[in-house]
Amino acid sequence: MSVDVVTFGCRLNIAESEVIRREAARAGIDNAVVVNTCAVTSEAVRQARQNIRRIKRDRPDAHIVVTGCAAQAEPSTFAAMPEVDRVLGNEEKLSPAAWRSDARVSVSDIMAAKGVKAHAVDHIDGHTRAFVQVQNGCDHRCTFCIIPFGRGNSRSLPIDDVVKQARRLTGNGYREIVLTGVDITSYGADLDGAPKLGALVKRLLKDVPEIARLRLSSIDSVEVDADLLDALASESRLMPHLHLSLQAGDDMILKRMKRRHSRDDAIAFCDEVRRLRPEVVFGADIIAGFPTENEEMFTRSLDLVDECGLTQLHVFPFSPRPGTPAARMPQLERGVIKERAQRLREKGEAVLRAYLETQVGSRRQVLTERGGIGRTEQFTPVRLNAPVAPGLIVDLMVAAHDGRQLIAA
Ligand code: SF4
Repeated sequence: MSVDVVTFGCRLNIAESEVIRREAARAGIDNAVVVNTCAVTSEAVRQARQNIRRIKRDRPDAHIVVTGCAAQAEPSTFAAMPEVDRVLGNEEKLSPAAWRSDARVSVSDIMAAKGVKAHAVDHIDGHTRAFVQVQNGCDHRCTFCIIPFGRGNSRSLPIDDVVKQARRLTGNGYREIVLTGVDITSYGADLDGAPKLGALVKRLLKDVPEIARLRLSSIDSVEVDADLLDALASESRLMPHLHLSLQAGDDMILKRMKRRHSRDDAIAFCDEVRRLRPEVVFGADIIAGFPTENEEMFTRSLDLVDECGLTQLHVFPFSPRPGTPAARMPQLERGVIKERAQRLREKGEAVLRAYLETQVGSRRQVLTERGGIGRTEQFTPVRLNAPVAPGLIVDLMVAAHDGRQLIAA
């Protein structure tokens, strides 16, 4: 029996690919390749189609199943491909019944999806840290974003199920748990008593002492609750690393994106967290070249990097997604978008280099991974100077850096 899963996109897709692998095998699917797609940019969709063609060329007799956000948002695009045998939606890819049906296209209305089911995952193939899905979907409608149309509205996994899943994975040797979802700071709004992300974090750290390191995936700073701030201040097992969905540094652009925070909110948030947890580092997603962004507005995105003290940037050249309001706004020239993205990346390289410099000579707790590297509590990559088994937490002296990662003594 062979079911290979090719995963694109986010940590949530990686966590779900474990369920896909298991349910497809249990349904007796054999000699299959499942492509778990991403739709966050047009480029991601193009890459998925390109990969599907390549897979079919390399394995002409393989059964090709396409799922994930691109399949959910545009099923007919993939159903029209001669290489594709089946198209499954984002709910169907996790459903044992859907894997047993022989319908060529099974994609339900994702906006009708309710709740998040516990899938009892034992391992995350090829990963040293365990991604635990706590939430799915999003109730916001940022004007550039296609994700809600692939993932549906926000829904959460009850705290008891998250605790069970974390116990299962730490019981299988995982030292670090990463809470993942689409908009995890809206966790719990659909659950009885509406527990927030902070309550979930505190409960996990109390009920699962085996968790050595608890990490959060991307968060929306304006939705962070008081319990989460308190946990950041008081819980050393909660990692001092926050990746923020900031997107821009200009208030008018943030308004046109339908974001819920202002530039000053973002700066105040970083200052407050840094006051509570001085060793914290911040990463952020920033879009370059959003429609109507002029040079002055872009400069405010560049300046925000310093004013928030960001050290890890994920730069997204604006990519119009058909069906989103931003795709109907007056677009900037591609050349301008590319040039601004390059300037933001260079800024990102400079702030990372400056941060790495401050780490030389320090001792760091590092979770070892495969390939001779590990990651600090701040999620900074470290090149190890001797082979160490993956999945261990080791205490290391930082001897140097190469501008991208630290180098252990
Ligand atoms: S918060 Fe905005 S950017 Fe994030 S998934 Fe929701 S709609 Fe997309």
